[in-house]
Amino acid sequence: MNLSDPRSFTIATARSALDRRELSSTELTRAMLDRIACAEPALHALLEVTEARALADAAAADARLGRGETGPLLGIPVVLKDIFATRGIVTTCGSRILEGFRPPYDSDAAERLARAGSVLVGKANLDEFAMGSSNENSAYGSTRNPWDLERVPGGSSGGSAAAVAAGECLASLGTDTGGSIRLPASFCGLVGLKPTYGRVSRYGVIAYASSLDQVGPFAWTVEDIAAVLGVIAGHDPRDSTSVPRGVPDYTAALTGDVRGLRIGIPREYFADGIAPDVEGATRSAIRLLESQGAQLVEIGLPHTEYAIATYYLVATAEASSNLARYDGVRFGLRRASSGDSLIDMYRQTRDAGFGPEVKRRILLGTYALSAGYCDAYYLKALQVRTLIRRDFLQAFEQCDVIAAPTAPTTAFRLGEKVSDPLAMYLSDIFTTSVNLAGLPGLSLPCGADTAGLPIGLQIIAPAFAEEVALRVGDAYQRATEWHLRRPAEITGLVSGKVA
Ligand code: GLN
Repeated sequence: MNLSDPRSFTIATARSALDRRELSSTELTRAMLDRIACAEPALHALLEVTEARALADAAAADARLGRGETGPLLGIPVVLKDIFATRGIVTTCGSRILEGFRPPYDSDAAERLARAGSVLVGKANLDEFAMGSSNENSAYGSTRNPWDLERVPGGSSGGSAAAVAAGECLASLGTDTGGSIRLPASFCGLVGLKPTYGRVSRYGVIAYASSLDQVGPFAWTVEDIAAVLGVIAGHDPRDSTSVPRGVPDYTAALTGDVRGLRIGIPREYFADGIAPDVEGATRSAIRLLESQGAQLVEIGLPHTEYAIATYYLVATAEASSNLARYDGVRFGLRRASSGDSLIDMYRQTRDAGFGPEVKRRILLGTYALSAGYCDAYYLKALQVRTLIRRDFLQAFEQCDVIAAPTAPTTAFRLGEKVSDPLAMYLSDIFTTSVNLAGLPGLSLPCGADTAGLPIGLQIIAPAFAEEVALRVGDAYQRATEWHLRRPAEITGLVSGKVA
């Protein structure tokens, strides 16, 4: 481990160095702040660097460590996607309509991380209102992929992923509505977990599609993910969809033993359109699990082909309703001239405040919900959603977890898909079903393509069986080294431009 390259740390290794008092949280935090200063001009993973807050958090953590306290995240630098409300800290959700908005309260996840003694170093870039798969829909400019600065980090939680991959923090939180944690985790060579719907509170998380949105972590290892999940999971009376159910000891569940575990391989996820490198790496990861004693079972998820259409009806319908609150009256931007009517003010504010993808989603969602079309589109989508959920319930009668690729390709180039929304939507082909069914999905690095770009393996578990997915991922990491790979240093910066 080496402080001049904070990517050499994981939460687990930093934890033992902090507990043994070989390292202070202040030293670790300063190393990350230095890294931020050097990488950010090229990377743009963060919308806000909370330096003063970070140093204060680190000093407080050092005081607790000095009293002999410990805890999974005590003194650990973290980043939050800028969709989490943070009291007094600008929270824009990547949108002009919330420019300069300082929430008067903390989201539940921000509160739990703070209580655990973690150190908040910044707020991460994202696609506007979490709508996107590449980060190119951020109103504040795209984040780049640390593995190749000409490529996207994935979206929508691309800034959260890039920040960990570049060594700006040891873990981050994102949200996943249709793949927004798993896709950037796979594109950036990290582990990312979308927990079961209801496992983590959404209180204070800016809503995109409320029946799908879920909070989850990014880190280098499954072991680290288990540590963060243990802190953020649990019932919160302020979110009526958060489930009052005990939180297992996720770390204790990492036994390294997958003997006898039945892993379902869905034939629909290995169909045409998947890049050969991705298919090869995923299949060899699955073979490795088999060599560790797991049993492979071929399964079918026959409604997979309807997942993208169903997702984009349900998500846009909910978004059109959720985004009605940005009216220029209560928060953020207002555009009006004297003599304007209320309707003029709404119109001008929303026209200036929302970007093109958000407007497209509001239009699609409003259409799908409108009188005369609601039965044909929105209600039909809800029926198909039930079929997709049943596919999984039936599959889990034959297997304990499902293994599949996270995405059909590795990270694509900036600009490659921006003018073709449908091609962009297809990046989510293997992730959206999991959200429609409310299940947990883990993505972990399992290979690299010929250009060296990371490939992600997805492990899907039954509802509230995160620990089983984590156990499988951890067993894989004990036997392989993909999680130890790091991108090349971000160097060659000339006044903030890539040389
Ligand atoms: N890419 C998907 C979308 O644009 C998923 C985004 C997400 O999970 N927030 O809606």
